[in-house]
Amino acid sequence: MKIHLVALALFLVGSCATLRYSEKIEKIKANIVFKDSETVKSYLETITEMELKTHVYQFSSDKFQGRRAGEPGHHKASKFIKDYYIKEDIKSPLGSKYYQYIPESYFSEGIKDSQNVIAYIEGTELPDEVIIISAHSDHEGYNDNEIYNGADDNGSGTAAVLEMAQAFKKAASEGHGPKRSVVFLHLTGEEVGLNGSRYYTKYPVFSMKNTVANLNIDMIGRVDDDHIDKPNYVYVIGADRLSTELHYISEKANDNFVGLDLDYKLNSDNDPNRYYFRSDHYNFAQKGVPVIFYFNGEHEDYHEPTDTPEKINYTLLAKRTKLIFATAWYLANAENRIVVDKEY
Ligand SMILES: [Zn+2]
Repeated sequence: MKIHLVALALFLVGSCATLRYSEKIEKIKANIVFKDSETVKSYLETITEMELKTHVYQFSSDKFQGRRAGEPGHHKASKFIKDYYIKEDIKSPLGSKYYQYIPESYFSEGIKDSQNVIAYIEGTELPDEVIIISAHSDHEGYNDNEIYNGADDNGSGTAAVLEMAQAFKKAASEGHGPKRSVVFLHLTGEEVGLNGSRYYTKYPVFSMKNTVANLNIDMIGRVDDDHIDKPNYVYVIGADRLSTELHYISEKANDNFVGLDLDYKLNSDNDPNRYYFRSDHYNFAQKGVPVIFYFNGEHEDYHEPTDTPEKINYTLLAKRTKLIFATAWYLANAENRIVVDKEY
């Protein structure tokens, strides 16, 4: 009998805790409201397949020679990004140079001097608080016979960032500037060990403390084997690891505006690929910044010279870009910055 009472007591305590948890989740969900849905929709419409396609084709063209960090092709690619921001009249927090230089001594494996490229839309009310949207700009380079064009890895992510920047800029110039600053960060040296993000998080342009979230994109233009019959998806990795709220904001943004299947399989603690630890967002997460990593999974052309632009699904690339834009919009405009409620 005594044992039964203990068991009953434990059961009651357990169910109370579960109730409290589910109440907490319901409260978080109820508080996530896009107050300006029509405005968000109007800027989502400026993100187009055609423009994304143009960016991917240009960025993965042979003239950038596979964009190996520190090599002339990657310098040219960095200049392409910088010139885009100048043309779109999108400023850099670094003034006219746009580049965060990283010296050769910081790299290993014979990588020469390189650079991150940084642009931003300054927040109207809380300019020191930032949402960072990132994508790595480097890739594998070339060998005697072939160029590694890296159209998906990471022409797709780069194109998405450029297109979102243009949408945020258009919003700002029409009186809908973000409350917090939105930073567009093109990272170098990812393929050779997450160097650009490690450097940025060590020498941040905006303090890590004021960095509200990092939305990192690495390969969002293709479909992996598991989704050939149901390609309307994206893997979302890391969203719930530091901030419960961030996960539900991402879900709400998707429900309200996009309707992708958000696949959390690769976010599992038990996933042997450990993608959460393998791209640039992880350097932010290590500093306590909540992150989301957007990814399409690996495919037969992953890190092969056959990762070329005609294989990208541009309809899907546009949808995935819209999900990230809507999420960033919310984070930048929300009344309160998201709460970090989990250990890292
Ligand atoms: Zn990549």
